[in-house]
Amino acid sequence: MKVKTFPLSKARLDEAVRRFPTPFYLYDEGAIRENARAVLRAFSMFPAFKEYFAVKALPNPFILKILAAEGFGTDCSSYPELLLSDMAGIRGEDVMFTSNETPAGEYRAARDLGAIINLDDFTHIDFLEKATGLPPVLSCRYNPGPLKGGNAIIGKPEEAKYGFTRDQIIRAYGLLKEKGVRRFALHTMVASNELKEEYHVETARLLFELAVEIWEKTGVRLEFVNLGGGVGIPYRPGEEAVDYGRLAAGIREVYEGIIVPAGLHPLGIRTEWGRAITGPYGWLVSRAIHTKHIYREYIGLDASMADLMRPGLYGAYHHITVPGKEEAPAEAVYDVVGGLCENNDKFAVQRPLPRIEAGDYLVIHDAGAHGRAMGFNYNGKLRCGELLLRPDGEILPIRRSETVEDYFATLDRAALAEFDGPYDLKERP
Ligand SMILES: *Cc1c(COP(=O)(O)O)cnc(C)c1O
Repeated sequence: MKVKTFPLSKARLDEAVRRFPTPFYLYDEGAIRENARAVLRAFSMFPAFKEYFAVKALPNPFILKILAAEGFGTDCSSYPELLLSDMAGIRGEDVMFTSNETPAGEYRAARDLGAIINLDDFTHIDFLEKATGLPPVLSCRYNPGPLKGGNAIIGKPEEAKYGFTRDQIIRAYGLLKEKGVRRFALHTMVASNELKEEYHVETARLLFELAVEIWEKTGVRLEFVNLGGGVGIPYRPGEEAVDYGRLAAGIREVYEGIIVPAGLHPLGIRTEWGRAITGPYGWLVSRAIHTKHIYREYIGLDASMADLMRPGLYGAYHHITVPGKEEAPAEAVYDVVGGLCENNDKFAVQRPLPRIEAGDYLVIHDAGAHGRAMGFNYNGKLRCGELLLRPDGEILPIRRSETVEDYFATLDRAALAEFDGPYDLKERP
């Protein structure tokens, strides 16, 4: 069984906490860089591979700069995410804009940045044309729906709101060509947190077959296919990580079987992974502030679901370790909880752990993607900050924790001061 690790010793953690009180997120830059390089190495067998990091997974421009330096682009889905990408110096065709229910202003912002727009729907062709005119390069998002013969692991794309149907997408390429679009791409995203390589290989097969059909029916030759995100990470200690080499080799095999004989080689391969890039290399570091003994044993943390929503939202498993007690037997069973007035504010339910006392650190693992990003302010909870562990061991704050001033920033306090009249119901018109 693989052991979950945390990059700071207890002594270094004590030292860090003196400067940066818990709770906070810590990201390991060296590990993120090594992982990025491993992805690129595995996929270097393709003529034009590019990974566009899904910004929503970890929307911090320091992280984006690290990934840009490793050769990644970004996948953005909103105006603020486009701004984050721009802030990190990632612009032009290094940006994919994969949005849905997109306001016209966001399409304009994507065009201004030079991003490759990935259309979510047939009606968006007309919508985009009116908003900005059609760009010379466009991608379309495919929703495979109820696939012929079905595929147990693909789940139910027909219930998903995203993308074009097969008929629509073929018509779309024909129409876009007529309207003067010159360069084309095809995208799909049909899974989340999927650990099986063959699942992702099947997604590639689906897109390659469609690329051939598009070529045969419309004469449009795609520049690249984008396999989307959804590559899983082993949240549980016993799970196996995706083997990038095996994944790339599997995709290469279907590429050789479909794209090469159809005369469509070279075809670019793109991905927009989020979770797999940063997920395992981020930790939420918190402290036990209370222990409570009622019908169950509870450990109350200084972090809450407002800092990490996945367990409460999806019942997702996040491994928890207690620095300094790594070798202690897991002889207690706890619900590990935050302070929201919501009973699903639980990081772990009935989890065997070493005996915990108030003051102990609790490290919540695999929080480097869809972690702080999903945070919120319900119950007046202030979201925690983010620290970066540099390869030389330095700890750099890359986002401070929120203050009450941040929480109040959207209120007009001058108007509030004026707003004080007693109200006589009889005066209602
Ligand atoms: C969320 C999302 C991603 C990233 O998903 P991961 O599971 O983090 O890899 C990529 N593309 C699109 C369109 C998404 O919505």
